[in-house]
Amino acid sequence: MNELIRTLTQTWGPTSYEQGIKDVITRELDGLQLEYRVDALGNLIYCLPAPGKPKLLLSAHMDQIGIIITHIDKDGFLRFGAVGGLDPYKVLGQRFVFANGTIGVAAVESKEHATLEHLTLDKLFLDIGAASRDEALQRVAIGDFAVYSGECTQIGNRVTSAALDDRIGCYVLIETVKAVTGKELNYELYGMFSVQEEIGIKGAKVGAWGVQPDLAIALDVTAWGDTPESYVLDISLGKGPAIKVKDAGMVATPVVRDLLIETARHRGIPFQLEVLQAGTTDAAAIQINGSGVPTGAISIPDRYVHSSSEMVDLGDVEGCISLVTSVLLK
Ligand SMILES: [Zn+2]
Repeated sequence: MNELIRTLTQTWGPTSYEQGIKDVITRELDGLQLEYRVDALGNLIYCLPAPGKPKLLLSAHMDQIGIIITHIDKDGFLRFGAVGGLDPYKVLGQRFVFANGTIGVAAVESKEHATLEHLTLDKLFLDIGAASRDEALQRVAIGDFAVYSGECTQIGNRVTSAALDDRIGCYVLIETVKAVTGKELNYELYGMFSVQEEIGIKGAKVGAWGVQPDLAIALDVTAWGDTPESYVLDISLGKGPAIKVKDAGMVATPVVRDLLIETARHRGIPFQLEVLQAGTTDAAAIQINGSGVPTGAISIPDRYVHSSSEMVDLGDVEGCISLVTSVLLK
């Protein structure tokens, strides 16, 4: 099992509470003695200078989806809202963990509400094993955040865990930075580990403004179309990183999309083309930043995204690192 992937996925970091992830990343890259800064919103931005070269911004978000406690009843049961896109059916029966280690189980009021058509977040509650409101308040408060507790396990060449969205993108960015440090670069590289993607791509918006890049590529996950009776999407696990053509938030700038396609072809890296009907990435915010930034994205196919057990293929992850590295190096 890749220990860095494990650490990245198992570190607690819902939207706006990305500090733990930042610590993992800075520790991992510490030995390279690179320049980095953290902006006022919390984006962690590494710079690998290449004077006179165009600025390339790579962005992977650190935050993961979660829940926020909205109410605690007299018997100690908690109600919660979503922080990011949360499907009730993926939440039911799952464990959640708070910053202080408190664990809760998401249960449903009654079986009638447990069917797909009737299941809504407000019919769910969180049981943290407290017998009263007072006991619950000793462990959690209104406004506390929690995330899926989903351990990281390797199955064959695949990894399942909570928070692969987008810690696997962070992993790709970390490994890319390692691979290109000290080499002659085609671009001045800005490696941004962004905040607050899951509630509306907020971190990337200000992070890109701070960098003012000449072009940008987001590194994130995408959905899948290769499980039984799944929705129609031309994406499979194990067929390589997906070069974005369009998602719900943007059309990838053709010049960046084509740069990625040509680089993949030239280096013999298998790839897929992504047309995603719902969801978007940091790329959508970066593209319309300042006076506009040519922007694309590379996506790692991720089954069961936004669940406690997402799944990616390690071959796709390696392909993604190779593709980004190839763009940067001669
Ligand atoms: Zn994501």
